[in-house]
Amino acid sequence: MKLRINTIDYKGSIVDGPGIRTVLFVQGCDKHCPGCHNPCTWDRKDGIELEIEEIISNLRKKCHNKKLTISGGEPLLQYPTVLELVKSIQDFDIALYTGFEIEDVPSEIFQYIKYLKVGSYIEKKRTTITPYIGSANQKFIRLKDLR
Ligand code: SF4
Repeated sequence: MKLRINTIDYKGSIVDGPGIRTVLFVQGCDKHCPGCHNPCTWDRKDGIELEIEEIISNLRKKCHNKKLTISGGEPLLQYPTVLELVKSIQDFDIALYTGFEIEDVPSEIFQYIKYLKVGSYIEKKRTTITPYIGSANQKFIRLKDLR
């Protein structure tokens, strides 16, 4: 199965979930939120397509602390492939960033990820205070707290 991605950032982010995290930016998002930090991820035809085995192999080589955030773009536009990816790296601590609301996220994936960020970015509600979100309408959820 192939996933269309923009890039994988191995530098280590401290704003995309707890700890120092590798961030996989999935390509394609139709929301076009004003003020989006990643408009280069919008075009569904841009970026590169990689087999998930290749992505997993790279993550295993380069993401030493096994903390991964899957962001975008909108990862859930490629849901079946993202589901396969997270199922294949269950030894990783995984955060999924989506612009969808929680009721629109397929609950099947909850068992495979640790954190979920939901909600579109709303520029008027921009926050730099609440950790791991960009605007106050968004929610960063530790999934085990829902179980
Ligand atoms: S949902 Fe996220 S990636 Fe998509 S336009 Fe909005 S802020 Fe950008």
